[in-house]
Amino acid sequence: FEADEAVEGLVLEVHRRTFVVRLENGDVVNAIYRAAVVTELKEFPVVGDQVLIAREKKAEENAPYSLLRVLPRRSALVRPGPKDKSRRELVLASNIDQVVVVSSVAEPPFNYGFADRFLLAANLCRLPLVMVLNKTDLVESIPQDVKDFISIVDKFICVSCKSGAGLDELRAVLRGKCSVLSGKSGVGKSSIVNALVPDAALNVGEVRELDGKGRHTTTSSSLFDLPFGGRIIDTPGIRELGVFEMDAHDLARSFPGFFRDEFFTCKYNDCMHINEPGCDVLARVESGEIPLARYKSYLRILNSEL
Ligand code: GDP
Ligand code: ZN
Repeated sequence: FEADEAVEGLVLEVHRRTFVVRLENGDVVNAIYRAAVVTELKEFPVVGDQVLIAREKKAEENAPYSLLRVLPRRSALVRPGPKDKSRRELVLASNIDQVVVVSSVAEPPFNYGFADRFLLAANLCRLPLVMVLNKTDLVESIPQDVKDFISIVDKFICVSCKSGAGLDELRAVLRGKCSVLSGKSGVGKSSIVNALVPDAALNVGEVRELDGKGRHTTTSSSLFDLPFGGRIIDTPGIRELGVFEMDAHDLARSFPGFFRDEFFTCKYNDCMHINEPGCDVLARVESGEIPLARYKSYLRILNSEL
């Protein structure tokens, strides 16, 4: 491969065989992976990456660029899972400041499982989690269970795309930062993106593509510039990207907020914090040091397929 000069750019979209890059001069170009590079680095570009790409010498005007290398990431949202797996599906987005999970308070009802997984992933990646609770126009007050859950996230904002309530507060939280935005189908994520980025023009209420097993999927992530400064990366859910794989014992040892500096304080090394004698987690839930909502989140993840 004899390349022209390498240029740096920002990855806007990632597809199976190609990805889209915005160069520093503002041009948006298509690029392809080269097996040699990807295998050697064991690293696929993800949305939010800075990459070096180049075109083959003497290439025609519209020939695609090729990946030379992914520049070091300052942060990444990684789906919890075994470390030895292909990194391709594990990294959801890079160079981000915070993780934003969109949920609805009704229609569909608040989804704890979805929020739990993002809370776990964000905590393990040491990224702040912002919870956006949409469709607040549909209820008179927020149910207590939901209030308890959102009390354990770093920040939460109640919004209504219908009335516009809370959207200015959301803009203030997103301004100047790069945020990953995720939400289960139907919660109003497209409506929120459209409200924030008027030229995004996402289809609202659209039934998403069906995969081979008849499930709704959104397979790729994409990056949007916010007109008031900052970026959002619209990404599919952790579940929707594949099975959430984490060993139950790893979960028991690494669940955020249970142990400081991974210093295990339960009596038994394989304690799952269910009913074991000498369980320090249960003792600290009892005393209120660990919020009950966080412990419930742990049990939900533990009891669902990991
Ligand atoms: P997505 O699947 O998460 O992208 O959700 P959409 O943005 O497509 O919205 C799903 C449905 O919820 C649509 O019928 C929207 O009109 C509706 N919706 C979105 N936001 C609100 C809201 O704040 N209040 C109410 N009542 N409905 C909303
Ligand atoms: Zn324990």
